[in-house]
Amino acid sequence: MRNSVEKGVELAQSFLGKVSDVDVFMYEAQNASAQNPSAYEEINGLWCEATRDEVHGYCNNGAGNQEKAMNGENNVFASGKMTCAPCGEPAKKSTPIVITPGLDSSGEYYEHDTDWLIQGAIHEYSHAFQALFGAHTPAWLMEGGAVQLEAVFSNHASRGTYRKTYEDHFKHTIFPAAIDLYGDTSVATWLTTYGSDRECENDIPPGGVNANPDVFYNIGAAAVAFAIYKANINHVADGGRTFADFWTNTEKHKGFWHSIVVDDYEFNIDTDWPSQVPEGTGWKGALANFTGHDSVAAFYADFEAWIKPGGVLKTPEEMSDILENSSDVDALSVEPFNNANSFMPRSCEASGGPPSSFFGVSSSATHSRFSLVVVVVSSCLVATLAL
Ligand SMILES: [Zn+2]
Repeated sequence: MRNSVEKGVELAQSFLGKVSDVDVFMYEAQNASAQNPSAYEEINGLWCEATRDEVHGYCNNGAGNQEKAMNGENNVFASGKMTCAPCGEPAKKSTPIVITPGLDSSGEYYEHDTDWLIQGAIHEYSHAFQALFGAHTPAWLMEGGAVQLEAVFSNHASRGTYRKTYEDHFKHTIFPAAIDLYGDTSVATWLTTYGSDRECENDIPPGGVNANPDVFYNIGAAAVAFAIYKANINHVADGGRTFADFWTNTEKHKGFWHSIVVDDYEFNIDTDWPSQVPEGTGWKGALANFTGHDSVAAFYADFEAWIKPGGVLKTPEEMSDILENSSDVDALSVEPFNNANSFMPRSCEASGGPPSSFFGVSSSATHSRFSLVVVVVSSCLVATLAL
């Protein structure tokens, strides 16, 4: 299992660059007939330290992770220091990630686990990258971005029998789910109304409570693909744009993530929401510059007119017209991020960064089924930050 997580991290890390302080916690699942709560003591202690709020001293005791692992449930998310995990915006300090593959009814790991773990690791590693370069970023760009990156690597040889092209991943998984939600006409403007702000415990977003996470994941991924499509058209005189530009271009305004300037506006992280970042600043300025729209509001309107022209929903086949060519995506996805002539946006020793290191901590349990592994990916982010 750990090999699969390492493979996913390796793929995402090679493409995005190295992000520091990414700890992956693999809580091993148990089945109903062999419960041993003490097997989780060590990993819970490490999880507590990885999530400790440095202001208030509070740490997460890992009870939720332990409960899911003992129940044999899937549990995958990225947390962050000083946040309301897992729905909060990850703080920049570090990004601890939990990955627990669940068990099937016979107490065995699901047979698709290898592929599922690779995909989960790609998804969560992309959150670590996003947390470093963005701030106050909307839920649809966080989750939709991570899902788009899953699609980028869905045709990699490591995906085995689940391998499918970028286009097929969108056509059969992402687009149908996005269409389903837009088919619910109780809300006309899903992305505009609910896309940015994700309810967190008792905090209610300005647009109200949204009960369907597909708006973040699948509408979000469709909107990311649409942003790249528009950027390519609107910047054609300047060589066009690709998904690789969106993620990794460090030239000012040629990419999205590396062009976010987070400190040129007022924002109270306790009371403000990503939708309230002023147009022209922060993630909104970077997105509008990338796509070539006048504002994020104009981008949303363009997306919603595209997915439902004249009130009639597009088919997944029609939506696929905006996608980059699958073989071009395959070729760009394995180009390693160039760490040369770069600096790190936050303190981390040794330019160039140490190679990823992984180590395991065994539990006190006797049965190998209960041995718990914590994988620590310790590496520095080396990247040019275009300001
Ligand atoms: Zn996510």
